[in-house]
Amino acid sequence: RFITFEGGEGVGKSTQVRRLADRLSEYGISVVRTREPGGTPKAEAVRSFILQGKPESWGVGAEAVLFASARLDHVNQLIAPSLAEGKWVICDRFADSTRAYQGLTGGVDDKLIDALEHLALNGHTPDLTVILDMDPDVAFERVRKRATEDGMPAIADRFEKEDLAFHRRLRDNFLAIAISNPGRCVVLSADTEEDVLTEAIWRAVLDHFPD
Ligand code: C5P
Repeated sequence: RFITFEGGEGVGKSTQVRRLADRLSEYGISVVRTREPGGTPKAEAVRSFILQGKPESWGVGAEAVLFASARLDHVNQLIAPSLAEGKWVICDRFADSTRAYQGLTGGVDDKLIDALEHLALNGHTPDLTVILDMDPDVAFERVRKRATEDGMPAIADRFEKEDLAFHRRLRDNFLAIAISNPGRCVVLSADTEEDVLTEAIWRAVLDHFPD
């Protein structure tokens, strides 16, 4: 089983990914928790290479190609072999992020995004994609508060580099992806208590995999 989590910045993806993986493990399921951009040494190298260069060094087209190359390695080296061993793979961001960030929001042509996705996934489309949805204004406030409390300015910086209009478009584009893929995607409101969201995700997983 292959589950991906998607959504904008500050929606709490990483926490929920960790909680779901922990819960599945408690049920005796072998889980591989991973993330994108990254997940294998080569893909993590691409991640630092691109994210360190942001915002000025790379055009969105180059980013789409580089993220897809990283994804191909991630799929071939980690995701596909883990699925073949019967493990569940839970991934924090995946191909929908490239479609939402570089494609629909960044303006990279749909056909290129489709081709890159076809190449990188190598047949491994997620079984379930949980899209965590939240008003970016609220997410921004949460990120800023957390950054001040935890001394994690990096996330807040990222938000400030790209304006709220960008994040609003990004949100709409994740919702558009969900509408185009109703069998695979579930949209859940992340503007709620963490525990409430954790339960909503758990119910979505049980509904999606009734056996
Ligand atoms: O989810 P996470 O915070 O690890 O993502 C790191 C950053 O990578 C995000 O801030 C996002 O802006 C960027 N990203 C991107 N294009 C993607 C995936 C992630 O620009 N396809």
